Amino acid sequence: MKNEMPQLPYPANGLEPVISSETMEYHYGKHLQAYVTNLANLVQGTDYASRDIEDIVATAPDGGTFNNAGQVLNHTLYFLQFTAPGQGKSPQGKLAELIERDFDNLDNLRKQMEEAATTLFGSGWAWLSLTPEGKLRISQESNAGNPIRQGCKPLLCIDVWEHAYYIDYRNRRAEHVKKLWDIVDWQAVGNRL
Ligand code: MN
Repeated sequence: MKNEMPQLPYPANGLEPVISSETMEYHYGKHLQAYVTNLANLVQGTDYASRDIEDIVATAPDGGTFNNAGQVLNHTLYFLQFTAPGQGKSPQGKLAELIERDFDNLDNLRKQMEEAATTLFGSGWAWLSLTPEGKLRISQESNAGNPIRQGCKPLLCIDVWEHAYYIDYRNRRAEHVKKLWDIVDWQAVGNRL
């Protein structure tokens, strides 16, 4: 992945009423754009300039370059995992098999993701990822964290920075997290395996 704005596969109002076009205007149009711009400025003239975002996130030491690269990667995965409400189907193929093996069913996976997202203290992300041993794993990461730093493949994420939900849900983080299931594009998630 390069350091650039992802092209959204839906219009700005395409995720309503789960995520409003106003939230998209700020979250995608301003927050993500700022991370992309900041990272471009930070890596200019350095060894990082020619490296993939995934590589920077996996290896950069804690600090500004990691924080901005992490947020570019996290938000790109986040915005590209959604589709119009009700259009996301259900997990298929290999992903469905792994969910059944490691969580028994999709409801359990959802509950554990919701728990991770709602109990994370402060800003950060809840993640579903694939470990190097091939097991599905749910984890919490503060700030710009991404499970790629532990050698895992990121599959699905929930952004619990307040900027992700405060316009639409105010302080109701748990309600926002539950509604996100209506827009998860399980095909896009499965393609990340
Ligand atoms: Mn965010």
